Amino acid sequence: MIDHDVLVIGAGLAGMRAALAASESGVDVAVISKVHPVRSHSNAAQGGINAALTDRGDPWEDHAFDTIKGSDYLADQNAVEVMCSEAGREVIAMEHMGVIFSRDDEGRLGTRAFGGQRQARTFFVADFTGQALLHVLYEQVLKVGVRTYEEWFVLSLIVEEGQCRGAIVMEIRTGDIHVIRAKAVILATGGLGRVFEPSTNALICTGDGMALAYREGVSLMDMEMVQYHPTTLKSNGALMSEGARGEGAYLINSDGERFMERYAPNMMELASRDVVSRSEQTEILEGRGVDGCVFLDCRHLGEKVINEKLSQISDLARDFANVDMSKQPVPIRPGMHYQMGGIKTDVDGCTSMRGLYAAGETACVSVHGGNRLGANSLLDTLVFGRRSGEHAANFARGVVERALNDGLIDRENRGIQAMMDRAGEGELFGSIRLDMGRTMNERLAVFRDDEGMRDAVSKLTELRNRFDSVAVTDKGKTFNTNLLFTLELGFMLDCAEAIALSGLERKESRGAHFRTDMPERDDKNWLKHILVSRGADGPIIENTPVIITQWEPQERKY
Ligand SMILES: Cc1cc2nc3c(=O)[nH]c(=O)nc-3n(C[C@H](O)[C@H](O)[C@H](O)COP(=O)(O)OP(=O)(O)OC[C@H]3O[C@@H](n4cnc5c(N)ncnc54)[C@H](O)[C@@H]3O)c2cc1C
Repeated sequence: MIDHDVLVIGAGLAGMRAALAASESGVDVAVISKVHPVRSHSNAAQGGINAALTDRGDPWEDHAFDTIKGSDYLADQNAVEVMCSEAGREVIAMEHMGVIFSRDDEGRLGTRAFGGQRQARTFFVADFTGQALLHVLYEQVLKVGVRTYEEWFVLSLIVEEGQCRGAIVMEIRTGDIHVIRAKAVILATGGLGRVFEPSTNALICTGDGMALAYREGVSLMDMEMVQYHPTTLKSNGALMSEGARGEGAYLINSDGERFMERYAPNMMELASRDVVSRSEQTEILEGRGVDGCVFLDCRHLGEKVINEKLSQISDLARDFANVDMSKQPVPIRPGMHYQMGGIKTDVDGCTSMRGLYAAGETACVSVHGGNRLGANSLLDTLVFGRRSGEHAANFARGVVERALNDGLIDRENRGIQAMMDRAGEGELFGSIRLDMGRTMNERLAVFRDDEGMRDAVSKLTELRNRFDSVAVTDKGKTFNTNLLFTLELGFMLDCAEAIALSGLERKESRGAHFRTDMPERDDKNWLKHILVSRGADGPIIENTPVIITQWEPQERKY
């Protein structure tokens, strides 16, 4: 058995920020990740990270208001206040650790404009901000001596007498199963993008942490709120960063018209993401698209801006759409990008289970509500990663160590063996995964309705039945990716169920949840969060009110 005070599951920005904070609080910390830390999806973040700096005449309250308006008034305002008021300090701390933020002409930290915000307050490193942050945090985690278990896979949480006591994990290289005992566990496993197909997310974004918590009866919140990003490539769903529009790129339809004029005359291309995605989809549905797409037009930005600030997406456009961004518009369409919902936590990362914390995209502190503003997620990972690390370290100090129940490893081994023994009868994971992804992308996308979501729920039941007899044909123990992908599919099906049930439950349109059969926002009945958890007899749905501090809900216009 392996022992640590605080076990952080996930080595993206949230996990490593949490580990660093916990370690600085003086407890023994370990991080476990199914891939090498710098391969976490945080690495792919392009556009930047938001912070309002008072000394630049940008009070944090303005950032908070933009965030709350962007959320369509579903975010909990106390949590938004914490995030926005601590943002400046967090970004500057990263700069001091060594992140080489892009500078403006005067040599100060540069900012670019991002969607749904009245100020340019997005700090960035060209168009690879996530990579720069992640590498610096990894250095810091190594420097303070945090133990990292890389390419280890968490199979389940250890819960005894209602308290989380560690995790059962598989070393991917050997296939060996271990128990890691911990006084506090922080889930920082990232998003669930791949529950949808296509998605901008890496293949590893399979919602493992949300499912691990859900299986133990912990509440997930706002799961119906799935963000479709306005600019993704048709061929493979890859993201063309909002940084492009931040630098001044246009969106045009088949007539070459900047159609956002009709939908958001003030903010145009930089309205919030849900609004822009819906506008694009409307253009496409009404016949003003080309081959299911509209266009991102960067031609007028010139080669210098493209090469210096948007080089990564310019490569993506060339490699995957065969387009030279400086000469031709890029065909794009809305694509699944981000999960606003997740494991319900408070502002210190505490979940409904003692000893279990969550931070980053897997968590729902409730700062994004119905729609996340671009560049607020990196901020969320750092602020709430740090806070959960600090709180978990304190909590761990008060926990008395105790022996765990026997037979944890045997139980896990039996489950896996049963799956391995089924070969020959069942189908492989791949076709089930694709059917799930396509169903979700058809039924729980930019536009939804009752009939479609009901259909998704019943298809998911069918898929679960197919999954019950899924076969694993690779019987080996070394790097058995066939087994891992199958286990991930199990997690994804749990997440898909939570999304579809929550979507059906919300009988209004708000943020990213737009129902063609109920197109109005209904503050009287639905200014509340939907919680979903799994009980002994299946999913349980509950509600909790939105926390409002100083910003009363208003009509949302851009
Ligand atoms: C292409 C792209 C661009 C983006 N650009 C921006 C941007 O510019 N600005 C912004 O604010 N946001 C952006 N986002 C969103 C943002 O990057 C993510 O929400 C954020 O990085 C998530 O960080 P995280 O630490 O929560 O998780 P991740 O970085 O996804 O890390 C998850 C970690 O959990 C581990 N893990 C998962 N399951 C298991 C398991 N079963 N066992 C062991 N380990 C496990 C993984 O190995 C990984 O280390 C972007 C997202 C994408 C996909």
